[in-house]
Amino acid sequence: MIQDFKPRLEQREPNSLRRHRHKLVVLAAAIAGAALFINLAADPNDTTAAVSTAAPAAGSAIDVTTLAIPAADTVALDRLSPAGSPPGPSAADATAAADAATDEEPSADAATEADPADIAAQPTDDPAPAAEPPESLRWVSHKVRSGESLARIFKDQGLTPQLLYKITHSSDEAAGLARIIPGQTLKFAFDPDCELVTLDHVLSAIHTLRIEATDDGFAAQDLRKDLEVRTAEAHGTINDSLFVDGQAAGLSDGQIMELAGIFGWDIDFALELRKGDSFSLVYEEQYLDGKKYRDGPILAAEFINRGTSFRAIRFEDEAGNVSYYDTDGSSKRRAFIRTPVKFARVSSRFTNKRWHPVLKKWRSHKGVDYAAPTGTPIKATGSGRVISRGWKGGYGKAVIIQHGGKYTTLYGHMSRFNAKVKNGSRVKQGQVIGYVGQTGLASGPHLHYEFRINGVHRNPLTVKLPKSDPLPKAQLAAFRASSAPLLAKLDALSPTTVVARADTGN
Ligand SMILES: [Zn+2]
Repeated sequence: MIQDFKPRLEQREPNSLRRHRHKLVVLAAAIAGAALFINLAADPNDTTAAVSTAAPAAGSAIDVTTLAIPAADTVALDRLSPAGSPPGPSAADATAAADAATDEEPSADAATEADPADIAAQPTDDPAPAAEPPESLRWVSHKVRSGESLARIFKDQGLTPQLLYKITHSSDEAAGLARIIPGQTLKFAFDPDCELVTLDHVLSAIHTLRIEATDDGFAAQDLRKDLEVRTAEAHGTINDSLFVDGQAAGLSDGQIMELAGIFGWDIDFALELRKGDSFSLVYEEQYLDGKKYRDGPILAAEFINRGTSFRAIRFEDEAGNVSYYDTDGSSKRRAFIRTPVKFARVSSRFTNKRWHPVLKKWRSHKGVDYAAPTGTPIKATGSGRVISRGWKGGYGKAVIIQHGGKYTTLYGHMSRFNAKVKNGSRVKQGQVIGYVGQTGLASGPHLHYEFRINGVHRNPLTVKLPKSDPLPKAQLAAFRASSAPLLAKLDALSPTTVVARADTGN
């Protein structure tokens, strides 16, 4: 009974294209702090399993097969534990990571590029939207090989080290030329006098750095191809697992992860998924020259879990922040993620009394310890302002973050801080603030994490995490306007339709 509905395509209005490109830039900028939505904390009632299970590495193949319908044994199902993660920014970040990764990969066409020695005519896939260069130019395309230096490539083209120096010192953009990686393509254009006129550094199928000779040196220019954005729809019914049935519905692994992330606060996919649950999605697809280039973000989604419908709408607010909201404009995400470190296990729990291994006496433990290798990144569990950063007695190198008026979080025993996060800095949820270590009173490398509400220590593993702020009233009108057509599409993909199709399909 696996659903297999091919995504339906339709054109989107042109202004959304422009908007989307802007989003990509914003998203790409967020990649440095890309908080994956594969956080470890999951079901607050079963944090042991959640935090003691290794999560997959960023960007690696993710074992989404664990998103199966719960059997008797659900151990390790939290490996993909979206329940503890912030669907909003994380999902967006994951998309950004995917986008940016795709963006900066060697271009797809690089593999089919002419042999380095080949002398090509003006390449047909030249990304320049500008006027065609004069016919008399001689273009040479060179695919960068492993171990090859820019100096070597220049020499092979009969160009001098002096010229290379001049070019790479002509601007910050041109200096980036030095960061060539194997598989990328350089395209040289020579005039009839064999003078270099243009040098293209093809960074991806959609992004090229162009350096052009001018009267007084060289000018660099970023050329970006516009992606055509279309919307597509998909839905399916859970029969086997979110992974299998998501794939059957035409979703990529990344989209399945994104979907799980979006509803991670609503549904514990490891424990609560049931046969007969269903999902519907409206998402973007990006096309380059009429061919699908990559998936864009999920715009709206519905998940019906055990008869309860959950819906999420993607919305970019005035400040450019992208997040997922309920249909009424309340945020899908929590103000805090549960766990500040990945790949960690709880080595010591919150307790009022315990034997302190270093002090050799009974002491209360007002936080949670996560054992993790030295150097493991520590993420701010919520957005806020750093109110303390430095050595703090037994905590060693510690950071304290104030979140709004009520909440503070503390992170201790760090080996080092993120140099960019200083006392007074504003930090975003998921941003790396430092790295695991064993400074202060610590018997081994671990993070000591505290969560306080109005100054009172609370158990980080079980404390009820507050929701993020809803959309401000002033933005509700805009939200409703943009969500209405998406909701109509979700309505059209209603479960009754799904059931009917499934019945006729079998
Ligand atoms: Zn501790």
